[in-house]
Amino acid sequence: MFSNWFKKSPQRVYAPPAPKRPADRRAATMTLKGKPAPLTERIKADIRNQICSLTDVPKHEQKFMVSEATISIQSGGDLHRFVWAFVEIGIEKSRAVSLADGINRRASAMQNVERQLALGIKEAIWQHSGLQCFSGELPETEVTALASSHKHADGHRFRLDTGLLVGGRLTFPGLQWGCKCLQKPLIPGIDE
Ligand SMILES: [Zn+2]
Repeated sequence: MFSNWFKKSPQRVYAPPAPKRPADRRAATMTLKGKPAPLTERIKADIRNQICSLTDVPKHEQKFMVSEATISIQSGGDLHRFVWAFVEIGIEKSRAVSLADGINRRASAMQNVERQLALGIKEAIWQHSGLQCFSGELPETEVTALASSHKHADGHRFRLDTGLLVGGRLTFPGLQWGCKCLQKPLIPGIDE
């Protein structure tokens, strides 16, 4: 029992950066804004899957990373904390930024769909951002075909409970890493 005490690794504690202008009234207002909605179990499970499927994250660091990722996404996409955690386990900064951004965007895309469904919105229009999807995220050979399928998805109507078949798979705007697409929800009685 006692030997476990000594084996325990030092606890890593995140320290948020000090605000640049603490007296700034705008900053004070920002901290007062409403708490973000809690993440659903489905999104938490997806974050866990994303982290655990990364070859960058060793098995013994998965628990730490899942916990930090969940806290940072839960707090409305606090990527500073998320990136800090990746760097803490030895991942290079630019890779850490790209991983944190990919996982956060995916969670936001899922959260958007969940919120819209909860509001009774059933369909949306796929909107291509005008920027190429997947550049820098996938091997060049895969990028061309997939990026073009996302471009062609622009303007297509899809159900929010199923997604749209794009590039051979059912997906949502922003769900896949490197996808910059957006969606326009169709408000029942207004857009229909
Ligand atoms: Zn896209």
